[in-house]
Amino acid sequence: MKGHCVVIGAGIVGSSCAWHLQRKGLHVTLIDPELPGQSCSYGNASCIATSGVVPTSWPGMVKKVPGWLLDPLGPVRVRPWDFPALVPWFWKFWRACNMQRLEEIAGAQALLMHRVLGDFDTILEETGSSNLKRSPGAIHVFDTEKEYLADRWQFDLIKRLGFDSHRLGADDLNSMVPQLKLEKGVALLMPQWHHLLDPARVTRRIAEDCFHNGGNWIQDRVTKIDANKAGVKVQMKSGNTVEADQVVVAAGAWSNAIAEQLDYKVPLIAERGYHSQISNPGIELDHPVMSLSRHFVMTPLQEGLRLAGTAEFASLDAKPDFRRAKVLLKQASYYLDGLETRDVTEWMGHRPATPDSLPVISGSPGHSNVFYAFGHGHYGLTQGPTTGRIIADMVTETELNLDMSAFRFDRFA
Ligand SMILES: Cc1cc2nc3c(=O)[nH]c(=O)nc-3n(C[C@H](O)[C@H](O)[C@H](O)COP(=O)(O)OP(=O)(O)OC[C@H]3O[C@@H](n4cnc5c(N)ncnc54)[C@H](O)[C@@H]3O)c2cc1C
Repeated sequence: MKGHCVVIGAGIVGSSCAWHLQRKGLHVTLIDPELPGQSCSYGNASCIATSGVVPTSWPGMVKKVPGWLLDPLGPVRVRPWDFPALVPWFWKFWRACNMQRLEEIAGAQALLMHRVLGDFDTILEETGSSNLKRSPGAIHVFDTEKEYLADRWQFDLIKRLGFDSHRLGADDLNSMVPQLKLEKGVALLMPQWHHLLDPARVTRRIAEDCFHNGGNWIQDRVTKIDANKAGVKVQMKSGNTVEADQVVVAAGAWSNAIAEQLDYKVPLIAERGYHSQISNPGIELDHPVMSLSRHFVMTPLQEGLRLAGTAEFASLDAKPDFRRAKVLLKQASYYLDGLETRDVTEWMGHRPATPDSLPVISGSPGHSNVFYAFGHGHYGLTQGPTTGRIIADMVTETELNLDMSAFRFDRFA
């Protein structure tokens, strides 16, 4: 099937969808009010986190939440006045907090995760961006042996699903990250992790490559959409309209505003995260270091050291609370000898989060020419190029050879 396909949203997910659709021979129009890669895909921790299969709803996590919530600057926060609107989502999240769902979700994530490296390498190579990827793995740390032992089941689970981790001895750790202070802690090397030096630039290059090869770019906000058997009509804030044969909704945390006009809303919220980026940190890391005790990541990027993390549940239009970004500087100073914390920029972004941590990568239940690609939560950068390839196969009715039932739009109904 050929034709004209509109992609709504130019984050890593939408840009990858547009790129793959165009390579399949469709005429593509990508629409976003922002330039490509300027929303959540801009400020993330930049890790290609291949082993990230454990959902946020892991059993046992619920016990930790009350302690976290007591600290307004702790790793998790729910803004009290936004809580009532979030209750239905949290109810579904709670329903996913059991071992059976954990196994099902992790197994489904692994299906995608085993494909992400191949898909990333292809898209980076074809867009002249391979120089923006680094591949020495990432290091995960726990502050104490006790904390590691409590979470060791996660490393056993990912091993069963085909992802490695190696506990590092003091000498190895010291030679890999000499600046890291971890006296009583535990460090693990995650050899299948990679990172990008600039996730926004990678996203932009993917979109630009699509435009360079004939794709159409419209910088505008989609306000109204109609679909029927004859095609799709998209209206924008400027008053302009575009008509197409198919549409892919890849508007990240904002996707429900479009989905409810075409089908219905799904449980999708903004799980907000923050970063502080230090342009002259005074030290150089070769690997991202992720603290599983303090729930944040320190990633060496082209423009400096990025400290990213925290989960803040709030409405889509709530103002950022940049104290949460500042806390990350304190946390990083705990680990890194000689860290300079001047020249810092702060950022907040909206992770598109579903209660089961799985993205929606799916055809629409009501329209054969509508497709959805959103809800990638903590792993949208990692899974963007793979999602793009799968969506392009779905739109062109190409055999997938992959069970995508766990990612269906109508799974929450
Ligand atoms: C602190 C933090 C750290 C993270 N670290 C990692 C990591 O290390 N690895 C990883 O894999 N993931 C990570 N993530 C998650 C990852 O960044 C997201 O999952 C991913 O960026 C989502 O991509 P997206 O394209 O779906 O959404 P976005 O990048 O948010 O793009 C959606 C786009 O849709 C557009 N849009 C919205 N409404 C409309 C409309 N009506 N019309 C047209 N366009 C519209 C928006 O303007 C936006 O540009 C992190 C996230 C955070 C917050």
